Amino acid sequence: MHIARILEASVERYPDHTALVFGERRWTYTEWYGRVRRFAQALSDMGVRAGDRVAFYVSTSENSVTTYFACQILGAVAVPLNYRLSPGEAAYIIKDSGTRVLVYGRHLTENALKIEAEVRSVHDFISCSYDASAVPEGHSQFDRLAEETEDRDLTRPIPSGSDVSALVYTSGTTGRPKGVVHSHANDIAIAMNCVMEYGLNHRDNALHIAPLYHVGGMQAYFMPHVMVGGTNVVMGRYNALETLQTIMSEKITTLFAVPTQIQEMLLHPEFPKIDTSSLRLITTGGAAIASSVMERVISDFCPGIYNGYGMTEASLALVLHPRDALRKLGSCGKPTLISECRVIDRRPDAAPGDIVPVGEIGQLIVRGPQAMTGYWNNPFETTRKLRAGWVYSGDLFSRDEEGFFYFHGRADDMIVSGGENIYPREVEELLYKHPGIQEAAVLGLPDEKWGQIVAAYIVATDPNLTAEDLDAFCKTSDDLAPYKRPKRYEFLGELPTNPSGKVLKRELLARHVNAAAGA
Ligand code: ATP
Repeated sequence: MHIARILEASVERYPDHTALVFGERRWTYTEWYGRVRRFAQALSDMGVRAGDRVAFYVSTSENSVTTYFACQILGAVAVPLNYRLSPGEAAYIIKDSGTRVLVYGRHLTENALKIEAEVRSVHDFISCSYDASAVPEGHSQFDRLAEETEDRDLTRPIPSGSDVSALVYTSGTTGRPKGVVHSHANDIAIAMNCVMEYGLNHRDNALHIAPLYHVGGMQAYFMPHVMVGGTNVVMGRYNALETLQTIMSEKITTLFAVPTQIQEMLLHPEFPKIDTSSLRLITTGGAAIASSVMERVISDFCPGIYNGYGMTEASLALVLHPRDALRKLGSCGKPTLISECRVIDRRPDAAPGDIVPVGEIGQLIVRGPQAMTGYWNNPFETTRKLRAGWVYSGDLFSRDEEGFFYFHGRADDMIVSGGENIYPREVEELLYKHPGIQEAAVLGLPDEKWGQIVAAYIVATDPNLTAEDLDAFCKTSDDLAPYKRPKRYEFLGELPTNPSGKVLKRELLARHVNAAAGA
């Protein structure tokens, strides 16, 4: 089976059902499929053939999903780019992936020209704009090409399950983004897995606020809703108030949001006034959600909350279902239907058989039909991360006696202070219980005496909050041993994040090191 079949099957079964909503525009499955085919034809007329890489650099929109499926019809490889990447970052991915065609959105024209200048010296490359008003000389307008092309039969080899469908670049939270190779079989497994875990059906109305250039937004959320013939409301740029209003106006039933977005919606002054009762489920993931935020979602927002743990390399591997959410607060649940998960010794050279006992912390490894086949062009990282079919996550987990998995942080973020291991997650969990805190990030700073000290970077909702208040708060808690208490607090207007909204701890560390060097 190949990915275009996901769409074709829904066109056959739900031809007149609304497939896609973007702004004022709505498409039924039949209409949208016609548009996808015209996009595919336009790409084919530009010379795109099976196996060619096609990048799209556009804000979340109808264009991103239409181009994605158009590539799948042709057997081309989709390379979705984060529209917040700088020209240099995007050019890096285009060169790394050997992309032949780049289609870009209007507000990215200037960036596209810079990318072109950089990439053309390396390989043959065509850029094309989505918008009539911003077509530089020498570029064509993709929408017009697509409109003008007739809907004719595309003679093409039907991709097989092992053919590459997409190169999805990781968020770059820990370094340069890596191109994760996804096959048609991987992505179909991911989508089916999510349909099963979340119990999706054609009556679902999904709101897409998550980036569609990531596995979490595209393969694990958009595709499953297409697979069941559901309706997909795509929102351009995320905004807390607009999200809440759209839930009400479109009677949204399913929402995927990262923890920071959920926290922002809960804290929005309009939140209590907006009717979000149509929501039957929220799925969250991508970063740890604080238990106090989870409790508030259950009581005030949507009791059907799922905490899913996943990564670009292995998609949704663990999920905590609503039925266990309160009983197992802080857990990422159990392995999904298609995932095998183990917690093994944290030594980098540990074998898949080195499973640690219940309650002990080790590294999570994941295996299943959704797991990547490797990193593009990167055999070194591939052998480091993928061994005997197991994806080595680099994340620290423990398991309880009932088989629930608990995330303790990225292995690289663990703090060793005075010889003791400290997991930032448990300190953050406590800080999030303080009502004056909107966001908290805990990390280890180098220290001559202790090796590392615990530092907390805080975005406060209460402008009068002080380090002394927080220290007193931690002291009165029974949940945190004294040696784990932050020795340093810093208040910021916002935390540095990567384009997916994940906190960049390495940037906080770099700022500290630079400041110390300059002092
Ligand atoms: P890079 O690999 O480029 O540094 P990244 O690790 O952020 O970036 P992604 O694949 O986007 O790449 O994110 C996967 C990571 O996100 C996981 O390894 C884990 O650290 C974190 N994560 C995902 N879901 C959860 C969750 N539910 N709870 C805690 N952490 C999560």
